[in-house]
Amino acid sequence: MFVAFLLLQVHAFAQYPCPGWKNNGEPASQSWLYTIKLEDPAQHLLHVTMTVAPSSPDLEVQLPVWNALYQIRDFAKNVNWVRATDAAGKPVATRELDKTTWAVPNAISVEYEIVAADPGPFGAEFSDQHVFLNLAQVLMYPVGHFHGQAVVSITGIPNNWRIATPLRETSSPSASSTGYCADSYDHLVDSPVEIGTFREFTFAHDGADYRVIVDSGESYDDTALLGTLKKLVAAETGWMNDQPFHRYTFFYHFPHGMGRGGMEHAYSTAIETSAARLSDDPVTFAGVSAHEFFHLWNVKRIRPQSMEPIDYTRENYTRALWFNEGVDSTVSEYMLVRAGLIDEKMFLARLSAQINELEVRPARQTQSVEDSSLDAWLEKYAYYRSAGRSVNYYNKGQILGVLLDLAMRDRSQGRVSLRDLFQWMNQHYAKEGKYFADSDGIRDAAEALTGTSFTDFFHHYVSGTDEIPYDTFFGTVGLHLQQTQSRTAYAGFTATANFSLTPVVASIDPGGEAQRAGLHTGDLILLVNGREPGGDLEGTIARLEPGTTLKLKVSTRDKVHEIKIKLSAREEPLFDLVDRPDATPQQLARRAAWIRGDSEASH
Ligand SMILES: [Zn+2]
Repeated sequence: MFVAFLLLQVHAFAQYPCPGWKNNGEPASQSWLYTIKLEDPAQHLLHVTMTVAPSSPDLEVQLPVWNALYQIRDFAKNVNWVRATDAAGKPVATRELDKTTWAVPNAISVEYEIVAADPGPFGAEFSDQHVFLNLAQVLMYPVGHFHGQAVVSITGIPNNWRIATPLRETSSPSASSTGYCADSYDHLVDSPVEIGTFREFTFAHDGADYRVIVDSGESYDDTALLGTLKKLVAAETGWMNDQPFHRYTFFYHFPHGMGRGGMEHAYSTAIETSAARLSDDPVTFAGVSAHEFFHLWNVKRIRPQSMEPIDYTRENYTRALWFNEGVDSTVSEYMLVRAGLIDEKMFLARLSAQINELEVRPARQTQSVEDSSLDAWLEKYAYYRSAGRSVNYYNKGQILGVLLDLAMRDRSQGRVSLRDLFQWMNQHYAKEGKYFADSDGIRDAAEALTGTSFTDFFHHYVSGTDEIPYDTFFGTVGLHLQQTQSRTAYAGFTATANFSLTPVVASIDPGGEAQRAGLHTGDLILLVNGREPGGDLEGTIARLEPGTTLKLKVSTRDKVHEIKIKLSAREEPLFDLVDRPDATPQQLARRAAWIRGDSEASH
């Protein structure tokens, strides 16, 4: 049973030690204190004061250039000014050293004004509606002091607004506000902060508390929402046989317009999905929630070596995103089945759609999923996302997770599965405080569990670009990948959308209808037949009737105008996982276990 209530007081949560305080209200040694003042919602202005101890003549402060998304976003672009004072209260001559670093010799206090106008789960936003902070976008750190403890307090909060954050509440030297403490900068910026008139729901599972913070001006079915989350939490903690925390927080934003997706953290997740999608397409909502929740193990605790230590000044290159993102989705699909939110038929249809997405991308023959992981930093460019240039590590990784699972089952006569692989990695890496060696670490786990070599699998499909012999894998569960042709509508261009949300035209067929109609690469597509485009613009167009006219509202470099394109027809391959007529009872039994992510021997 769960109880919905408005939060009256943020619960203290003894997870991290907090720094002590000197009598004069300054932090003890090797720690720093931030005060974020909500200055002006109309201009999205925050005023940050950072008190540093101890200071030094060579003290420098830095603001990350990236966090959350694997994208260089240069948060320093939003810093209006930086000032500093020394222990005597005298101004310090600050000096900018590079785009994101300031020398502040002997400063004990650094102040700056920063704009927070970036909505969404990866952003920092202060408006008259609410505050949501990815703290890495607004809080500098003293260079070389990542491991000091930090306390944040927030002032200027309107009377009827409240704060929610996974950070531990602590007494603050400033009696007028609550402080929240973190044991390192990494921990601090892995902890989002929501401030506003949100609703809070709670439920308990196996001794842990779950909080659900919802900020939305739209109506939504909170009973359905909580029912889904409770099922997913039970499915995932049960599957991992682990619940490595006492409290976990789901932050949700349900805007009227498009949602920007989800962001994982060690003790929370922040997810933005449109209110309409939440009610029309509850499986997508459940899928995003299942994916982000599983990240609490996969990437936050079962973590690749290449992501550590986090370098906030440049790209952290990793070859492991196919596993940390893609195989995360492999598992979250199993969890939807385990939680009773989708059935076997829908599972196979969703998997077939993933295979379809990979198989229509020519770049599957030229870019490995490891290279796609390394190149994540290029995803902000529309052309990079086009089908001829890149494969998507979520997509191919999700498929590879399934194939790895089926191969492990096949080689071990059903003795071990992907579930054992994750539990093994949880024991050997997460619980030991170690990081795994990217793809090699995953291969080692599969080999240790099955006693067989996975060199070829990783060589062909992970670091290589070999075509995948699907039937070799799916035959073990009595399935066949059927390829047919389907006639779909086509407009003669491709467009891709990333976290910018608005699709951007990535390529145009020479001499095609779109080119004749005056569409150009780089144009933004604002409306499709009068409606805001969803995430899958090409799919939306493909489902229209060939021969009809597509109306696009398009923003170009210098104007917004309407373009009409007569849709042609094209034959496209269509992939479907279908039953093999000769499937054996053993294969069908394995299929049932596989789709639920079950081990076979012990169940
Ligand atoms: Zn993810």
